[in-house]
Amino acid sequence: MSIKTSDLSLNDRLKKELADTTMRKAIANGQDALNTKRNAAFAELGNYEEWRENAAAVRHHVLENLDFYLNQFAENASANGAHVIFTRTDKEATDAALEIVKAKGVKKAVKSKSMVTEEVGLNEALEEAGIEVIETDLGEYILQTDDNDKPSHIVVPALHRDREYIREVFARKKGYTGDSVPENITRFVRGLIRKEFLEADVGITGCNFAVADTGTVTLVTNEGNGRFVTTAPKTQIVFMGMERIVPSFTELDMIFSMLVRSAVGGKLTSYLSFITGPRGEEDRDGPEDLYIIIVDNGRSKVLESGFREVLRCIRCGTCMLECPAYRHISGHGYGTLYPGPLGLALVPVLGGYENYSDVTKICSLCSACNDVCPVKIPLYELIYEHRRIIAEDEELVHAPEPFVMGAYGKVIASSGIYDFGSNMARFAKFLPKVGPLKEWTRERDLPEITGKRFRHWFKDHKKKGGKS
Ligand code: SF4
Repeated sequence: MSIKTSDLSLNDRLKKELADTTMRKAIANGQDALNTKRNAAFAELGNYEEWRENAAAVRHHVLENLDFYLNQFAENASANGAHVIFTRTDKEATDAALEIVKAKGVKKAVKSKSMVTEEVGLNEALEEAGIEVIETDLGEYILQTDDNDKPSHIVVPALHRDREYIREVFARKKGYTGDSVPENITRFVRGLIRKEFLEADVGITGCNFAVADTGTVTLVTNEGNGRFVTTAPKTQIVFMGMERIVPSFTELDMIFSMLVRSAVGGKLTSYLSFITGPRGEEDRDGPEDLYIIIVDNGRSKVLESGFREVLRCIRCGTCMLECPAYRHISGHGYGTLYPGPLGLALVPVLGGYENYSDVTKICSLCSACNDVCPVKIPLYELIYEHRRIIAEDEELVHAPEPFVMGAYGKVIASSGIYDFGSNMARFAKFLPKVGPLKEWTRERDLPEITGKRFRHWFKDHKKKGGKS
């Protein structure tokens, strides 16, 4: 599984990201701009809570009946002429794609943005097989050019980079000689990518939502690259997380209304693509062969767990934009493909507590994410529940924590020890300078203990005839 994006320890990751002031400014600017647009878009729509309730109900209904809708989708997509392949693991998913591209003698693939292909490690698998993979989404292309940097946000993958950094990457790697004006950089990149669409043997996309009753795959993009990827190459492969499904276009309409407003603060994106089967006899373009690879990769485990609600996610990225921790450490601080509150709720189940227990500590439990999730996932409660499970599992808790809590329990249970300890507490102001507390107090102030202690005040109070 490729949801791990860093080999650094949690502390080292946080130190690295907190020291990157350019990144922090880029993320803060991105958060502020997108949040302002989102708030305006929902204010214009009106009845925000009602929309959220309805969207949550649709996603809940789909998860409760997922087997039915997946079968319905597979039957309809097959009837339309697509090849539908169910895969259980990341390896099965990449093997299915490799089998297709090898059979067709593919040398070059163009891709539009897809988190599930990142999750299963598709690019690495294709490149190992000698196939050149070109990312065609501008953000993903920036990251690929920048030595395969990892996405820091699920909708805006290069949110952590500013325009000057991006100019420098293209100057260094692609010979760009222009300025850092986004339009100029985009024009330059378009010139590079355009010919790749025409040369590629296969186009690879994700799937925002599949429509069960028509067998349609849908794509929401803001750049024209998705259209090229799905029309120019002779073969198209769609990767789809198995929960990304809606019953019909009626529900799709509502979910898209929430997705687009939440993700980019608009009523619609520039392109909505609906792919129902490969090219027909009447069609002027489109792939001759369409393959849809449906990926489980741990989702069944999430479905059966107490964390099922996280599969309602429509991948809008809003919880990250609202999160104060994300603001300071970006997606890279989490060290996981899915960052922010979504990642903290999803990753420990997807990848196991043994690998991802530390990441849940990043959350400040402020619950801001709960208020903005368009499908009302109780992110705060899910993250809190992970922490509870971790705290109660002796193998997951780091050695000093049970020791400290055990010692605290003994102190609090004994009047004599408590009295001695609280007398000593006045020296606590020296502790932050030494020992393990040094790390904790680097960003926090430990208040000085001043004034009269309660038990002394209470003794005096009783002496003076005061009531207990
Ligand atoms: S958890 Fe909610 S807010 Fe976060 S990405 Fe998913 S749908 Fe959007």
